[in-house]
Amino acid sequence: MLTSSDKERLVYKQHILDSNISSFQSKENILSEFERIYSNKSKKHCEDRLLMQNILTEASTNRYHILLRWVIAHMKENDMTVDDMKGTLDIAIEKNDKDIAKAIAWYMTREFFVKFANQLKDATDIFPGIRCSCRGSLVLDCSFCTNERVIIILTRTAIKEKPDTYYGFEIEEVNPDLSNSDDSEAVTISDILSSKYTNSYSLKVKLPTNSVENIFNRHSNITLICPSVLMSKSFYKVHAVQERICIHLHCKKKGIIPLGEDHFPTSILGIPTDIIEGNISFITKLRI
Ligand SMILES: [Zn+2]
Repeated sequence: MLTSSDKERLVYKQHILDSNISSFQSKENILSEFERIYSNKSKKHCEDRLLMQNILTEASTNRYHILLRWVIAHMKENDMTVDDMKGTLDIAIEKNDKDIAKAIAWYMTREFFVKFANQLKDATDIFPGIRCSCRGSLVLDCSFCTNERVIIILTRTAIKEKPDTYYGFEIEEVNPDLSNSDDSEAVTISDILSSKYTNSYSLKVKLPTNSVENIFNRHSNITLICPSVLMSKSFYKVHAVQERICIHLHCKKKGIIPLGEDHFPTSILGIPTDIIEGNISFITKLRI
């Protein structure tokens, strides 16, 4: 039978315990990103898949870039798979965090490539991206204008037994030769320029080297930047061009933003840009 003084002592002990727990919890909450990594590293149960899964979600939610990379670097030794990343890319996209989204998407893409290495042996390039729904110069001021994810595979040989999706990514193969066929946008414009314009139109536009370098560094999808006097008005149903000084941005795949990157610029130094799909190495008549 507990006496009243025993009960008081128990209540007091419970109070001390509660305050210690809340103090510990608040300390956990205010740990810096580096302290968080250190504290997890020193825990005996660090090699716990569920714990690492939670840290991955926490890193995406709180936008802890270094913590996220630390977990990704230790995925294999903790027997983690792409399954453990479920939902983390959604969080990063929702928070418009390009850096974290890029790290997660590239890990998934690498795993996809390893898993389907046999089917992808003829692929020349692969990258994760977001399908862009913006039209013309109406470009959203956000890297994620949709949540439609796609893994683009550049290959000249059709992929056999290709999966349609992989962890929320659509799988799309692109044959670079098709974008350089005779009726493609890139070749059509190149042909018109070759036949109707004899002067060097590149002299009309001076692009500073550092601006061009900056664009190449920020947009991995771009293969060539060159001034032009012809701008594509529409191409899908009717081939139509207009005479207008512009800057052609040639890219591997139109309508896809590589994950973690921005939309292409709609103008460079005040000159409008025109996005052309096609690999420049196959356009023999292009003039620069
Ligand atoms: Zn867009």
